Amino acid sequence: MKGHILKSIIYVTSACIVRNRYSPLWDLARNKPDMKGICKQLIRCIEIFVSRSFIQKCRECEKRTDNMIIHLLCFCPYKERQQHCLWKLIYELLGHDEFKRCSVLDTSSQCAYVLKLATLNSNLCFSHLNITKATAKLLSL
Ligand SMILES: [Zn+2]
Repeated sequence: MKGHILKSIIYVTSACIVRNRYSPLWDLARNKPDMKGICKQLIRCIEIFVSRSFIQKCRECEKRTDNMIIHLLCFCPYKERQQHCLWKLIYELLGHDEFKRCSVLDTSSQCAYVLKLATLNSNLCFSHLNITKATAKLLSL
């Protein structure tokens, strides 16, 4: 496995999966029924993002990709409007300098960063709900 992908996986899983492969997103889903769908979807997307890659065809644009999450977040031409909305929210959150640092990362690390922002939570609330919702909408499979 390539080093940068491995680093991305550790980065995402450390944000949303704590001990014994248990995600705090399940606590959130249990306590906030209106967030259950988003929690399940994000966990599924992270599973796809970190699992062994295999070639899949995008249902939207029919292009073949070895990582559907990276494809949808960065490359799918049918998702351009939603990608723009999501990256704009991230820009507003991070500010110019941090966003610039994020923009020079490889795409795998950028996607790990987005998934981390989308799943970050404390006290049974998502830390950046607008980014969580925009990410879930973009990644609806
Ligand atoms: Zn596509």
